Amino acid sequence: MEKLKPPVEKNEYIDVAFEDLTHDGAGVAKVNGFPVFVQNALPGESGQVKVIKVKKGYAFGKLIKHHTISEQRVEAPCPVYKQCGGCQLQHVSYEGQLQFKQKQVKDVMARIGHLPDVPVHSTLGMNDPWRYRNKAQVPVAEREGGLVAGFYQQRSHDIINMDACLIQQQANDDVVQAVRSICEKHDVSAYQEQKHKGSLRHIMARYGLVTGEIMVVIVTRTAELPNKKRIIEDIIEAVPNVKSIVQNVNSKRTNVILGNQTNVLWGEEYIYDYIGDVKFAISAKSFYQVNPEQTKVLYDKALEYADLTGEETVIDAYCGIGTISLFLAQKAKKVYGVEIVPEAIEDAKRNAELNGIHNAEFEVGEAEVVIPNWYKQGIKADVIVVDPPRKGCDEALLNTIIDMKPKKVVYVSCGPATLARDLAILEKGGYETVEVQPVDMFPHTTHVENVAVLKLK
Ligand code: SAH
Repeated sequence: MEKLKPPVEKNEYIDVAFEDLTHDGAGVAKVNGFPVFVQNALPGESGQVKVIKVKKGYAFGKLIKHHTISEQRVEAPCPVYKQCGGCQLQHVSYEGQLQFKQKQVKDVMARIGHLPDVPVHSTLGMNDPWRYRNKAQVPVAEREGGLVAGFYQQRSHDIINMDACLIQQQANDDVVQAVRSICEKHDVSAYQEQKHKGSLRHIMARYGLVTGEIMVVIVTRTAELPNKKRIIEDIIEAVPNVKSIVQNVNSKRTNVILGNQTNVLWGEEYIYDYIGDVKFAISAKSFYQVNPEQTKVLYDKALEYADLTGEETVIDAYCGIGTISLFLAQKAKKVYGVEIVPEAIEDAKRNAELNGIHNAEFEVGEAEVVIPNWYKQGIKADVIVVDPPRKGCDEALLNTIIDMKPKKVVYVSCGPATLARDLAILEKGGYETVEVQPVDMFPHTTHVENVAVLKLK
C-alpha cells in the first residue's frame, strides 16, 4: 500500500483556520484532514503558521501571525503566563474555558465511550476563578547573594522569581515572600541542584480555606537550619494566622519535593479545614484537594447522584484521606473505603474519629484486590463510588462491580478519556450511563474533573 504523504512540509508557511483545541490547550487546524497543532491558537481564529515538525499522522506549527481573533481571546492577566506553563488557558475567557471543557468531555464520550447521546452538562465553574489553590510549593535558588523563589522555566531547571501566582491563595503568596526574605536575612543558603549542596530547597504553604489556618513548611537538604530560633520568631511575626511551622528534610537528589523526615519547629503538626461539615486534619505530607471550594461542588454532586436514604452500604474505591467516604457516611448505613497509600488511610481513620463518624471502615490495598475480597466475604454494596487516578479503574475492579451489581455507580474522574473507556466497559456489563457533570476544579489549566452516574439496567 502506498503511504499517504503528509500535505505539509517542514519550514513551509501555511494559512489555516483553527477549529478545535487539544486536551492540552493547543489549537488544531486541518490541512486536507491532516491535523496541525499550534500553541496559542483558538477555535474560530485563523492565521499564518510555520510548520516546524512533521510526523506520520500530524504536524506541529508555530503561529506567525493571526488573521482573525476569537471573541473568546483575552489578555492573560499573569505577567509570567507564557514562561511558567502552570496555566494553559489564561488567554481564553473563563466562559470559553468552561465551554471548551464541556466539549472535550462530549468528544471523548462519543469517540472513546461510544456514548454520543449521553448528557454532558455545562461545566460547573467558579464565581471567582482566581486565587483558589490552598497549597503552594515553590523552589528556591540563589541569585547575586540573595534568594529567589518562583517556578522552573518551562523545559528547564532555571528558577524564575515570582512575586505573585494568580491562582494561588493570597495568604500562600504572602507566606512564600515572607519566608524567602526571612531566610535571606538569616543567611540560609539555597539548594543547588547540580552540586547537591546548599540548604533551602522549597518553601511550602498550606491554607485552610474555611479556618484560615496556615502551615509553613521549610524543605531543606539537611536537618541543620542556621538561626532556627530567629527564623521561627520572624515567621510568627510576619504570618498572622500561622498555626504550624515545620521543617521537612529531603536529602535525596530527586524532583520529589518532600523527604521522609518532618520536624515540627513550632505550633501544631496539623492544620484543619472543612469541606461542608466534615473537618479534616492536614499535615505537611497529607494529600488534600487543592481547590476545596470546587471539591465541595464535586462531592455534593456525587452525593446527589448516590441518592442515599441512610439504609445503604457504600464502597468508596480510591478513597485517599477519606474525603468522599466521610461525606457519604453521614447519609449511609455503612461505608467501606479502600486506598493504596497507608498514610492516607491513617489520615482517613483520624478524620473519621475527628468527626465522630463510626460507620466508616478503611483498608489499605489495591481496590482491584481488596474489593473482590470483600465481595467473597459477603460484603455487597448498594452504591459504589470510584475516584481513580488519571489512568482510570483496573479492569478487575470493573468486573467485580459488574458481578456485585450495585444499583448505582458514581464515577468521579480526573481523566475524561479513561472515564469514557471505563463507562463503555460498565455499559457492556449491564449499566447505563445516566449523565456526566464536568466540574472545573482547576481554572486556567486544561484539567477537567467529572462525575458520572450509572444505574443498573
Ligand atoms: N477520593 C480521594 C482521592 C482520589 S485520588 C479524594 O477525593 O480525596 C486517587 C487515589 O487513588 C489516590 O489517593 C491514590 O493513592 C489512590 N490509588 C491509586 N491506585 C490505586 C489502587 N490500585 N487501589 C487503590 N487506590 C489507589
